[in-house]
Amino acid sequence: MYATKLNETLPRVREAVAEAARTAGRDPSEITLVAVTKGHPEEAVRAALDAGLRDLGENRVSELEEKVERVGRDGVRWHMVGHLQRRKAPRIFGVADVLHSVDSVRLAERLARVREDDRPPLRVLFQVNTSGEEAKYGFEEDAALDHILEASALPGLRPEGLMTMAPLTDDEAVLRRTFSRLRELLGEIRRERPDFGEELSMGMTNDLRIAVEEGSTMVRIGTALFGERP
Ligand SMILES: *Cc1c(COP(=O)(O)O)cnc(C)c1O
Repeated sequence: MYATKLNETLPRVREAVAEAARTAGRDPSEITLVAVTKGHPEEAVRAALDAGLRDLGENRVSELEEKVERVGRDGVRWHMVGHLQRRKAPRIFGVADVLHSVDSVRLAERLARVREDDRPPLRVLFQVNTSGEEAKYGFEEDAALDHILEASALPGLRPEGLMTMAPLTDDEAVLRRTFSRLRELLGEIRRERPDFGEELSMGMTNDLRIAVEEGSTMVRIGTALFGERP
């Protein structure tokens, strides 16, 4: 069932990314498609891998652990895209290749502290609340520059870029602003720290096109690939 579904949806999603990239004068190959399998069973993961997808995303550690248990880590890059509670920080190292959601200095400190020395540095993105919504996780925009510079200097973390989540709206101006702020903040950070990575993790099913037009390098897509979550 998921294989049939992906036959139809994956080319559409790839074309949407390519089209938006062309509109913005960008090369579509700069954009990684992270297939978010959360809420879908192992079958969805296997179908995604069979279809050639290599970057898979989950938003809860326990579900990520279950999927890794079943499918393993060979030939997959597992992305943790959801909020990580500090007490669960130690569990991330065994299952995630990239953590998109470092959303506080305290979480960064905890990750740095619990990382075992023989592990490679953890690839991280810092999540910023560029929409200003109360209910959203992420560094507050006003303090983000200082706090992210502080957090990204910790040992054991490899800062690869920034992540944001847009509000659930069709208002294009609001979406654009949410994404362009993240891009501008990345520029400010990189002026201070040229070795900070250039990834911009932004864009989900509802706002994929605008995110790519505004510079996204990683889109996190669930529904458009796998359908509504059961
Ligand atoms: C669920 C989720 C996605 C995918 O959302 P869709 O709207 O299904 O594409 C992306 N990012 C995060 C952080 C998520 O939790």
